[in-house]
Amino acid sequence: MRKPMVAGNWKMNNSLYETRDLIRKMLPDLQEIRDVDVVICPPFVGLGVAVRETAETAIKLGAQNLHWQDKGAFTGETSPLMLKDLCEYVIIGHSERRAMFGETDESVNLKVKAALAHNLQPIVCVGETLEENQTNQTETVVSRMVREGLKDLTSDQAEKLIVAYEPVWAIGTGLAATPEGANAVHKEVIRPILREMFGKKVGEEMRILYGGSVTPANAKELFDQSDIDGGLVGGASLKADSFAAIVQAAR
Ligand code: PEP
Repeated sequence: MRKPMVAGNWKMNNSLYETRDLIRKMLPDLQEIRDVDVVICPPFVGLGVAVRETAETAIKLGAQNLHWQDKGAFTGETSPLMLKDLCEYVIIGHSERRAMFGETDESVNLKVKAALAHNLQPIVCVGETLEENQTNQTETVVSRMVREGLKDLTSDQAEKLIVAYEPVWAIGTGLAATPEGANAVHKEVIRPILREMFGKKVGEEMRILYGGSVTPANAKELFDQSDIDGGLVGGASLKADSFAAIVQAAR
């Protein structure tokens, strides 16, 4: 049995006051939920406030990115050593970072290894663009991203890692993948690679989240699928009631 997870990717949204207020609004519905891993991923600068506001609750925190080096002359970057005191998870290789900030499978792999070395659990994003989807390249692209991004990890390391399948054409568009279509990628593309790379047991235990226009209206049907173990949620995680409804759908 894989424990469901719902992670909210706030992207570049919310001031410190807004962070405080939004978490306070979420607390009544979410603070005691322990049968789903509920994770909030604010921007780096909001993590300190989020730590304070979620103290002694079941809510966990994640960052949206990290650098792979521990420290040094990397202006504007944030190291795993800085994050490990603030959060448990880190999103790596989001399609926005791949498309706008030059992230590659190689940098994703470096970041995954750095996160794991410091006990941060990576949420590794993979997914095809609209053009790749329309030219039947989904399997090729997603397979490459999983194999390259998770290259050279041991099974013990992989166990702590979460994969998020996020078709780029579904992110922020209101056009979610169909539950059956997303599940087919999870079950027939990603999971067999995880089993092959990390062994049957670990491959079965690793969680694969779906991301891309998840809403309270479509969450239950998505999460009911055999290999969709929860969601990575962007827009709908910025409102307390919609995020709580998505978490409820995962229970
Ligand atoms: C995301 O950015 O990870 C995402 C899934 O966004 P949205 O839910 O807004 O499509």
